[in-house]
Amino acid sequence: MPQQINLLGLDRSALQEYFVGLGVKEFHARQFLKWVYQRGVTDFSQMTDLGLSLRQTLSERAMLALPEKAGEQISKDGTRKWLFRLEDGNCIETVFIPEDDRGTLCVSSQVGCALNCTFCATARQGFSRNLQASEIIGQLWLAGRLLADAGYGPRPVTNVVLMGMGEPLLNYDAVVSAIRLMLDDLSFGLSRRRVTLSTAGVVPAMDRLAKDCPVSLAVSLHAVEDDIRDQLVPLNRKYPIDQLLDACRRFLNNDSRRRITFEYVMLDGINDSTDHARKLVRLLRDIPAKVNLIPFNSVEGIAYDCSPKVVIDRFREEVLAGGLMTITRRTRGADIAAACGQLAGKVRDRTSRSARYALGGNG
Ligand code: SAH
Repeated sequence: MPQQINLLGLDRSALQEYFVGLGVKEFHARQFLKWVYQRGVTDFSQMTDLGLSLRQTLSERAMLALPEKAGEQISKDGTRKWLFRLEDGNCIETVFIPEDDRGTLCVSSQVGCALNCTFCATARQGFSRNLQASEIIGQLWLAGRLLADAGYGPRPVTNVVLMGMGEPLLNYDAVVSAIRLMLDDLSFGLSRRRVTLSTAGVVPAMDRLAKDCPVSLAVSLHAVEDDIRDQLVPLNRKYPIDQLLDACRRFLNNDSRRRITFEYVMLDGINDSTDHARKLVRLLRDIPAKVNLIPFNSVEGIAYDCSPKVVIDRFREEVLAGGLMTITRRTRGADIAAACGQLAGKVRDRTSRSARYALGGNG
C-alpha cells in the first residue's frame, strides 16, 4: 500500500489540489477544512457530507496525524505549558496564556533553535529540525481540544504568537502554510492583527512575508548598538541593526494603521542605561512602533541578570518621554518555566556548536 499522506497542515489551495488530484471537485476542500479545524473531527468516516466513496478513498490514502500530549503544567497564574511529542520522538513546548479579554497561544516553529542567542534557553538545547506545517497547526488544534476538555468554552484561542521555540523565518514555507490556516475563515479564522510572528531579524524573509502574508510582526531588537547586539543575537553579524530597521520600514509599506512591536529584553548592566533608552527613541523615530520591555527570565546556566525594577521603570519612562508607546511585558508562567526564553522541550541536537555559530553570522 502506498504511504498515506498527512492532510493536516495543507492550506486551502494545497487541499484543493489534492482533491482535484483524486478526481473529485475542489469544493470538498472547503468542507474538509471545516470538519478538521472548526469541528475538530479527524475521523474521515464522520465527515458525512463528503460522500461515501470519497471518505473511503481518504481512509485508504490519507491520514490526519497530530502531535501527542506528553506533559502539562499549569501555573498559579493560569498559564498552561504543554510538552507535545512529535512522530520522531522530539518534543516541543506550546504555551497558553489566558487573560480577561483574550487567550493567547504561543507556538513553536522549530525543534530547538539554531540562532544561539546568548540569553535564551531554547538556544542551549541546540537545533534538531524544522517543524512541518502539520506540527505547527497541530499545536493549535490540540490546544483547542485540551482546553475544551479542561472546561474552556468555544474558541479559547483568540490570538496566536509565533514566539515559542525556534526562528519562524528560518522555516518559512511551513510557517506560511500554517499561518494561512490560522487566517482562513473556513479554518481558525483569526484576523491578521491577532497573529504575530516574532523574528530575530532574518531580513530577506521579512520582505517575503510582507508580500505573502503580512501578519503582525514583532522584532527581537534587544540592543541599540551593533557590538552589543552582535553578542546577544549573533544573527546581527549577518543583518545588522540598520539593515533590520530598513526591512521594518519596508514591511509596513507606509500603512499608517500598522505598527511593529520591538521586543527588548532587560539585561542588568548590558543594554539598560538611559543612554540606550534615548538611542532607542532615535532609532525608531520614523517607524510606527511599540516597544515591549521584557524582564529577563532566568535560565539555568546563563549568567545574565534581569535589570532591577527601578532601572526597567526608568528605561520605560525615558522611552515613553520620547513619544514611543512602551509597555513592560508582564511575566507569565515563570513558575513552570513557560515564560519568554524559557522553553526548551526535548531536542535531539544535530548541530555542532560551530555550525550553529556559522548560521549566526561571520564569527
Ligand atoms: N526566534 C524568534 C522567536 C522567539 S520569540 C525571535 O527571536 O523573535 C521569544 C522572545 O523571547 C524573543 O524576543 C526572545 O529574544 C525572548 N527571550 C529569549 N530568552 C529570553 C529570556 N531568558 N528572558 C526574556 N526573554 C527572552
